[in-house]
Amino acid sequence: MKILVVGGGGREHALIWKLRQSPRVERIYCAPGNAGIDELAEPVDLDVADVEAIVGFAREHAIDLTVPGPELPLTLGLIDELQASGLRGFGPTCAAAQLEGSKAFAKELMRRCKVPTGFFSSFTEPDDAVRYVHEVGAPIVVKADGLAAGKGVLVCQTVAEAEEAIDRIMRWKLFGDAGGRVVIEEFLDGEELSFMALTDGETVLPLASSQDHKRALDGDAGPNTGGMGAYSPAPACTDALRGRVMEEIMLPVVRGLAERKIVYTGVLYAGLMITADGPKVLEFNVRFGDPECQPLMMRLRGDLAELMDATVNGGLAGRTLEWDPQPAVCVVLAAGGYPGNYERGRVIHGLERLRDWRRGMVFHAGTAQRDGAVVTNGGRVLGVTALGADVGAAVGEAYRAVDQIEWDGMHYRRDIGRRALERER
Ligand code: AMP
Repeated sequence: MKILVVGGGGREHALIWKLRQSPRVERIYCAPGNAGIDELAEPVDLDVADVEAIVGFAREHAIDLTVPGPELPLTLGLIDELQASGLRGFGPTCAAAQLEGSKAFAKELMRRCKVPTGFFSSFTEPDDAVRYVHEVGAPIVVKADGLAAGKGVLVCQTVAEAEEAIDRIMRWKLFGDAGGRVVIEEFLDGEELSFMALTDGETVLPLASSQDHKRALDGDAGPNTGGMGAYSPAPACTDALRGRVMEEIMLPVVRGLAERKIVYTGVLYAGLMITADGPKVLEFNVRFGDPECQPLMMRLRGDLAELMDATVNGGLAGRTLEWDPQPAVCVVLAAGGYPGNYERGRVIHGLERLRDWRRGMVFHAGTAQRDGAVVTNGGRVLGVTALGADVGAAVGEAYRAVDQIEWDGMHYRRDIGRRALERER
């Protein structure tokens, strides 16, 4: 098989690392890749949003399977365009990807399929949104409708804060076109959980549980980020909860889309809040979560290429997934300033010391090669991911590896896996 992976983050590095282990994979290309990925795949200098060029490359190189990592090419219709050219892509079509691309679409679908989620209303006029906020009160959550790189969500403790959030999204257009419509949503309290499944449009196969750490600082303080670390399994996801999430959320959504003639294939990710009334959906994503994908790939047993093939071909019925029973933990190392403005081009030291690391892997996210050195090239720079006999051992292993790495301005959380550790104790 010839595979083209689209993206250049820790998620894509982890996917490629796993795909490389498959005997049926003969060649992997990655657009655009990064310094770590380039050791495992052939870099292709294409932008993830350039659907036409990606399809052109896939056609020219007779790619058997194109695997988009991030949501943007999916919402732009990459899978539809591949299919129109007689090619195959792993992921949902443009229509199905609206589940992530439009929060209003996702909310409407959940309402119709009776999937548990916070109450909400969506608005295209800021005055109407403000009126609604006065009606329902605070705390309340204000979200830009479209894609905003995880930043268009403002959790507001007071009505005044919510009014300002509406101004920022709708009047000042801080998130551009994503703010043409806002979704105002009930504030949900509880523990957050990531729930991912593979689906071929009919069978829904849950992946191992995982959990990420969204806030920038220890103790879940500071601003929201793309994710500062993750672990799998998540002890908060009991078998009972898993059954409930499948029955109340995952299956109804896939079936609800199918009833609307939308076949969802690929990874379906539900961001959940485990409230006192049970699991409720915060958001859907239409691809693997990053960094959660990193500990998941470290634990997945079997052939990922074959599994992706089966997903695309409608062949998931009767299958199960196997996982390494050992927990895996990923600590994200970020550039100084992230999630705000950050600098690029800082030389990363110590990676060579981890070349032969046996109990883990340093997945690259924002890195590049410059004059023979690996330098920072993004906000989230590396995902240091380790396995251990228990959560404590995996956490220890990951942080010992982190101690080997440094660059000017590097920062990271020191409490990744804390909740899982508390439960383990
Ligand atoms: P989202 O991109 O919708 O997952 O939102 C990003 C983060 O904002 C989530 O991971 C939560 O921490 C928080 N959040 C989103 N929606 C809500 C909500 N309804 N209640 C409480 N927190 C929320």
